[in-house]
Amino acid sequence: AAKDPGNSFARYDASMSDRLNRWMGIRSQLQQAIHADEFTVYLQPKVEIQSGNVTSAEALIRWQNPTMGIVSPADFIPIAESTGDIMALGRWVLSEAARLVQDPGLPDQFAIAVNVSVKQFGDPRLIDLLADISRQLEGSQRKIELEITESALMLESIEVKRMLRDIERLGFGVALDDFGTGYSSLSYLTQLNADTVKLDKSFLDEIPVNTKHAAFVSSVIHMAKTLGLKLVAEGVERVDQLEWLALNQCDAVQGYLFSRPLSFPDLLTWLEGRPKV
Ligand code: C2E
Ligand code: CA
Ligand code: CA
Ligand code: CA
Repeated sequence: AAKDPGNSFARYDASMSDRLNRWMGIRSQLQQAIHADEFTVYLQPKVEIQSGNVTSAEALIRWQNPTMGIVSPADFIPIAESTGDIMALGRWVLSEAARLVQDPGLPDQFAIAVNVSVKQFGDPRLIDLLADISRQLEGSQRKIELEITESALMLESIEVKRMLRDIERLGFGVALDDFGTGYSSLSYLTQLNADTVKLDKSFLDEIPVNTKHAAFVSSVIHMAKTLGLKLVAEGVERVDQLEWLALNQCDAVQGYLFSRPLSFPDLLTWLEGRPKV
């Protein structure tokens, strides 16, 4: 049967139409999903290497749909970006993160980092929401940070420039996400006025044996230090990676080695089990 070209074509065709169906399913379900309360914010702790302190976590959205089951953000975020649903969804994540970060169960100093798509910079309601969150957090030691992924032409846009200035004025920390992939360059770091650089998992996977990656990562760490930026390594799964990063003075790590993304109650329990800051 494997040699029958007609048969293998049929299989190919079926997987194509499966993917198309899923894509259309996601697209049609997205809008109502917010109102139907199908999204949840999970949180993945970031661990400071030297002290072992955990003073922040990244918000990662999860979608459980009654017909489609669990849908990965890697699948639905790009679709939400293309349909424009990312604007409402992004506002929901920000509001939810702002609510969670004020929970009395968290340590006094705590930050939640929220992924913000550059597409959201076109949302006329974004700045009012950010201003509202900034008022809510005034006088507390709880913070919201924004993780922004670099993209082509981003800094050419006047709209984006104005938004970045407003974000800075309102006091939100900014992290440049997925550093090393796409359009990253030194100039982005300085122009963005970022506080943090998040080094992409793909450069860390083969650390320490991949000497090219090791050289790249250590030079990014050095550069971040020179620019006064905090460096967070993403997707750290093994002790040998952690040891190398500690030796090379990376500030913080995030990854399955310490914890997967957790529901909010699970995060509180996880934090309970760690030494107090
Ligand atoms: P990201 O911002 O690069 O987030 C890190 C991803 O790596 C997350 O995948 C996280 O669960 C995963 N991860 C963390 N540690 C490890 C590890 O040690 N090993 C492995 N294999 N993976 C690890 P997730 O949650 O599936 O999110 C995928 C992407 O979807 C995110 O990549 C981000 O770009 C996007 N995303 C997630 N939530 C949001 C959101 O609320 N808004 C926007 N705009 N994008 C989001
Ligand atoms: Ca991120
Ligand atoms: Ca990232
Ligand atoms: Ca990444």
